This record gives sequence, structure tokens and C-alpha cells, in this order.
Amino acid sequence: MIQTIGILGGGQLGRMMALAAREMGYNIVVLDPTPNCPCGQVADKQIVADFDDIEAARELLESCDVITYEFENVNLKVAEALASKLPQTSRLLEVTQNRIIEKTEINKAGLKTVHYKVIASQAEMDLFVENYQKNSVKTVIKTAIGGYDGKGQYVINNVAELKAFATENYNTGIEYVAEEFIKFEKELSVIVCRNSNGEMAVFPMAENIHRNQILFESIVPARVSHYIEEKAISLAKQLAQHINLVGTLAIELFLCNDELVVNELAPRPHNSGHYTINACTTSQFEQHIRAVCNLSLGDTKLSSPCVMVNILGEDKYLMNREKIGKHKLHLYGKTEAKNGRKMGHINVLGETIGECLKEVENLILH
Ligand code: ADP
Ligand code: MG
Repeated sequence: MIQTIGILGGGQLGRMMALAAREMGYNIVVLDPTPNCPCGQVADKQIVADFDDIEAARELLESCDVITYEFENVNLKVAEALASKLPQTSRLLEVTQNRIIEKTEINKAGLKTVHYKVIASQAEMDLFVENYQKNSVKTVIKTAIGGYDGKGQYVINNVAELKAFATENYNTGIEYVAEEFIKFEKELSVIVCRNSNGEMAVFPMAENIHRNQILFESIVPARVSHYIEEKAISLAKQLAQHINLVGTLAIELFLCNDELVVNELAPRPHNSGHYTINACTTSQFEQHIRAVCNLSLGDTKLSSPCVMVNILGEDKYLMNREKIGKHKLHLYGKTEAKNGRKMGHINVLGETIGECLKEVENLILH
């Protein structure tokens, strides 16, 4: 019987997993290098150690019945050391921590990605520059490993910009993918959970608005046709089955010419799924815990339209409970409010999306 859940990573995602798990009666041990981290504040115990500290990982292994993670950049050696209690597997991490492997798997599952080229050596960089001179379309170059919230991305508008990028990155050994920069109609995301028995559940699709490549708000239900909604559900299941998912997979999508193209994957609850805490029968965090503990999955029905707004470090005025009034304010317990740092979010519920968006307008300083 599972009594204690171990979480690698103690940020907001770990915290919200822990809160859901505690409601279900589980004990929580979290491993994170920052004392009193957001998850540490709500866990039974925190092991304060670096993520690549194998001894600390072994201590986590010994104190828990099952282990999960809140971020994909878990050291693979650590993941392998935890394998006996890690139902999500290190393979899922291997796929999602490298954009090259991730895109290959997405295509193997029969789904579309944006057109891309791999730049993994100096020879491939030279070839890319040569071909670009013949056909220069707007491109975004992303590091294969380690990027988030737009970090590690370089938008290339012309040959001169590409040459400058290539000079700066001469022989560095860093691997990149170069993607066509597409004019999408919308950004969407869909979250699927699956347990070891193969049971699957998909949450209603979110429509995501980014500012400076950081998620600003998620609108649910997404304002798309029934056909697109159905398509998203079936591609999420197809992908989950293909990678033999256990746990949660968030799929970021572009809607482009009435087609869904996969942007990237995350093997964990996702920022665009925070609306589920207040607007669905089961939250993505509870569902994640159910999936990794191999319990039956909960109902993912949407009980109300919702707009989720992120609170970044520069939005201090949104951390004021009095000002937010009846809306659902979630703060992550972070002490230092740096620019661009996710401090919390607000779920605004309403009869219609129009009503929710109007309420959001009233909250946000422009
Ligand atoms: P991450 O979220 O890991 O930083 P993403 O690949 O999701 O990286 O990129 C962040 C944002 O940049 C996306 O949500 C999207 O708004 C924009 N973007 C990424 N790739 C493309 C692309 N090929 N074409 C147009 N916009 C893109
Ligand atoms: Mg993204």
C-alpha cells in the first residue's frame, strides 16, 4: 500500500501535487536544494540536497513508496537509481528533456510537428547556414536541452542574424533544433493522464495566450470547433499510448490552417492546467497522483468556464487577497519576487468566457 509519496523538485508544481496528495491522506517527502521551498512548506519532510546528489536520491527512495517529479530535467542517472519506485520511468524523461528525441517520438506516434532541422554539430550548422542563404524563412532556433519560458531560444529573421548566431556558437557542441517560425491561429494545450492499468483521461483543452514567451492566461473551454476539440483528445490518447505513459503528459499545440501541430511536451502537470483546480471535477494534480499511484482516474468534466491568469514577480499588486475578492487566488509561497518568476495564479470563473475575460480586464493593470 502506498503511504508516502516522494517528489523530486519543490516548486509550485510539486507544491500543488503535494496539496492534492495530502487531501487524499498521503504523506509527502520532497527533495529540493532550497530550504523551505514552495513544496517543502506543505510536505511532511524535505530533503535539502542538489538534484544530482545520488545519496540524497537514495534517502528519498528509502523514505517513500512511490516517487514522482515536477520537472523534466531530472538527471537520468538519478532517475535510474530511483527506477524501482518511479512508475513514470526514466524513458519518459529522456524523451521530454531533449527536443530532438521528443520530436522524433511525436512523429513516430503519427503526429505532426513544425518543420525543423537538427543542428547537432559544426558541420550541420555550416550546412544550415548554407541552405538558409537560398531560402531564408523566419526561424526559431532552440537549444535541444534545458529551455523553458522562452529561455534558450533565438529568433532568426534574416541571413545576417543567422550568421551572427553561427559565429557566436562556433564549435560549442550545443545541440539545437531550428524550427520554422509559424503564424499560428491559436496556441492550445491538452493534458492527458494514464495509470499503469492503461486507463486514460483527458482534460478539456485550454487556449493559451503568451506574453514574452511566458504563459499569460489560459482560456477554457478553448474557442475552437468541436472537430478540433475531438482531434486534440484523440491525438493526446494516441501519444500517451505510443509512449506507454504513466502519469501526466501535457501537449502544447499550435492551431495552424485548421490543423493541430505539436509544439512540445511536458511529462507533468502543466501551467495551462491550473484552471482544473477550481473548474473541473478532478484537478490535474489529483489526477497525476491517482495516475502514479495506479488508482482509478477521476472525472475531468469542466464545471464552469474559466480564465487562469499567471502572477509574475512584477505583478505584485495581484498578490493582494482583498483586491482579488471572490476570484480564486493561489500563491506559491515564494519569498523573492523576481521579474518573470511565477509567484501564483488566479482562476476566474464565470457563466461565460466573455464574463471571465471582463473580470480579468478589471484585475489587470495595463
Ligand atoms: P518553452 O515553453 O520550453 O520555453 P516553447 O517551444 O513552448 O518553449 O516556446 C515558447 C513559446 O514561443 C511558444 O509558446 C510560442 O508562443 C512561441 N514559439 C515557439 N516555437 C514557435 C514556432 N516554431 N513558431 C512560432 N512561435 C513559436
Ligand atoms: Mg512551451
